Amino acid sequence: MSTSDRTPIALLGGTFDPVHYGHLRLADDVRRGLGLAELRLVPAADPPHRGGPHSSAAHRLAMLRIALEEFPGLIADDRELQRGGKSFTVLTLEELRHAFPERPLWLIVGADAFRGLPTWHRWRELFTLAHVVVVARPGVPPKVALPPLLADEWQRRHTLTSAPLFATPAGRIFEQRVTPQPISATDIRALLAQQRDGETLSQLLPQGVLAYIEQHHLYHAPTDAT
Ligand code: ATP
Repeated sequence: MSTSDRTPIALLGGTFDPVHYGHLRLADDVRRGLGLAELRLVPAADPPHRGGPHSSAAHRLAMLRIALEEFPGLIADDRELQRGGKSFTVLTLEELRHAFPERPLWLIVGADAFRGLPTWHRWRELFTLAHVVVVARPGVPPKVALPPLLADEWQRRHTLTSAPLFATPAGRIFEQRVTPQPISATDIRALLAQQRDGETLSQLLPQGVLAYIEQHHLYHAPTDAT
């Protein structure tokens, strides 16, 4: 990458426990909708806001890599797994900003994650490091219900057009339309623990990921997630 490259670097962080079509299609919709050649999916080693993942980092990364075979343009980025420890997004963005001082960084979040932003470590700095691209998530109420501090940031930073996401390195909030995907890893883990039929599951995540789950006996124990 040349130093004059100003192509945005777009990231979707997550636990991906397991990765599913909700993640994959939203990432692909954002990538296509905003005209990027690639978009990075970044699995968290130890997500700060929840209990530990049900599957190991190695399994979650392996499933992600299998899933991405169906989605050219989406890339697995294992920097948080390499770094280890709590996967604070602000540290990931700082690392990228250091490596790419001029390039726009885009942090993609579902509406549920966005509403929780004020609980993230050094959350206001996220906006100085990156633009935030919010996508709707079925079942999550719209922005009228934003916590007050976040509503203030929304007022100051929201842009109706995507142009500032390309023209400046960080600082704006943009909503990208995506096809709604009523899918969650919680529901998938519950279905797998109940040993439900593969036909329902194959609508929710790639066949190759299901085969991997079967082969490694993942998610068969009841989860805390029902
Ligand atoms: P879990 O059910 O275990 O909480 P999840 O399905 O929410 O998992 P995560 O890995 O926690 O998946 O999500 C990573 C990111 O993807 C978050 O920003 C989340 O909002 C977003 N996301 C996940 N699934 C969807 C979906 N179906 N629609 C929109 N956004 C989604």
